[in-house]
Amino acid sequence: MPTEADVAVWQGQWGAAPAGELLAWAASLGGGPLAVACSFSLEDCVVVDLLVGLGLRPRVFALDTGRLPEETYRCAEQVTARYGLSIAWYFPLASAVEALLGAKGAFSFRESLANRHECCGIRKVEPLRRALQGATAWVTGQRRAQSVTRGGLAAVEWDAANGGLLKLNPLAAWTRADVEAYAAEQQVPVHPLHQVGYPSIGCLPCTRAVEPGEDERAGRWWWEAAEHKECGLHARPVIEAR
Ligand code: SF4
Repeated sequence: MPTEADVAVWQGQWGAAPAGELLAWAASLGGGPLAVACSFSLEDCVVVDLLVGLGLRPRVFALDTGRLPEETYRCAEQVTARYGLSIAWYFPLASAVEALLGAKGAFSFRESLANRHECCGIRKVEPLRRALQGATAWVTGQRRAQSVTRGGLAAVEWDAANGGLLKLNPLAAWTRADVEAYAAEQQVPVHPLHQVGYPSIGCLPCTRAVEPGEDERAGRWWWEAAEHKECGLHARPVIEAR
């Protein structure tokens, strides 16, 4: 099991490695298949494609918040067919959702940042913790260029928030154009909402299309300030490379 000290060293050694090399190295550490948190955004699908292209069988999981657009399920079916992978779906605790809706209704997340974090906590963060139990490493499709909240993203991170494990962001340095070029070349499944102005994929009531020139994540929780546009899945303590 990697330690925080290991990850600090690896940041310096592997933080600038090309995506494929980083993933191949991480797989060589052992400890079971790499876990991929897949929202079915183009970035996440590219990560799955990279891993499969290396001859690996990642454990791909998705968080069904109960508020996803139908297009996400359609893309999931495409990913399953394209890569021969089954998706492990994780749901929020029914009792927590029932209590939330009973107390605050179906759209409490629009009323305050605290309410929004509460909803994301129940529907995303808690299921993610369960999904990562027993994993030694997980992989995301996050990129630095996506938003102001991701400008300091490292390719190799220590994830203390989910019990202490290695977290890899192999596309950290990629641009949107890099992702689209790779996806076109490798015929990666494309989420239908990407084709109608949604660069970022999330829950239906909290995601809209963006206007030309807007930040890629401007359509997520569009009623909030840019620095708040994270759901809690990517709590990020800073560690220094040694
Ligand atoms: S994105 Fe919106 S609906 Fe989805 S979990 Fe967060 S607040 Fe709730």
